[in-house]
Amino acid sequence: MNPRHAIRLEGVHKVYSGATPVTALADISVTVPSGSLVALAGPSGSGKTTLLALIGGLDRPTTGTVDIQGLELSGLSERRLAAFRRNHVGFVFQDFKLIDVLTAAENVALPLRVNRIPSRLARMQSLKALSAVGMEHRVDFRPCALSGGEKQRVAIARALAGSPSLLLADEPTANLDTKAGLRLIDQIQTIAQTRGTTVLIASHDPRVAAKADRVLHLLDGRLSVPNKVEVVA
Ligand code: ADP
Repeated sequence: MNPRHAIRLEGVHKVYSGATPVTALADISVTVPSGSLVALAGPSGSGKTTLLALIGGLDRPTTGTVDIQGLELSGLSERRLAAFRRNHVGFVFQDFKLIDVLTAAENVALPLRVNRIPSRLARMQSLKALSAVGMEHRVDFRPCALSGGEKQRVAIARALAGSPSLLLADEPTANLDTKAGLRLIDQIQTIAQTRGTTVLIASHDPRVAAKADRVLHLLDGRLSVPNKVEVVA
């Protein structure tokens, strides 16, 4: 894999077919260097979630190419695409998607177990990831006993436990109060800097944009305004 660019999109269009086809993304070409923290800004419906889905290999573009660290995703079979997601991508969803009957530590360990990591090692990695987001005191709590901010931190620990090279987060601060939101952004920024993880955060939150190395603005499925800070590849 090419370590210099994490993400390279060329001429990406995404049209959702149906009775009324929707063009969610049009003519997106962008390169993101490895290890950068990128904010994806834009109003609701501008295409942020769709762009994350294409970059994370959850969906495919209608036309154009999505190259992640030298791997062209559209050429992959469904099986290899699933393996790409498991091995390289951590997702953080707005609604956390934690499993209610599992503890925090079990939630974080689950994708590791799916990746066939032995249970004791998975538990160790899970505890380490929870500790990295300041959740070591809640490892045996179930999601129902956690606050919104705590659930979100467990979701981030789960996304990071397998040491993905790419962290994709969709509105991670949307359900958090101001203090928890700021703390979360700081933690994500530290993780990007210390691990060299490339982080892409879709968010309306100006505090996310303020912390980012680069801001991509989407409007009606197109990249609009130039970047705040140009990152040298
Ligand atoms: P954002 O994350 O910025 O709110 P989305 O990527 O969710 O934007 O949506 C971009 C556009 O694509 C919107 O017009 C939305 O209605 C449309 N869209 C998203 N998902 C689908 C889908 N599965 N089928 C049809 N249209 C969709």
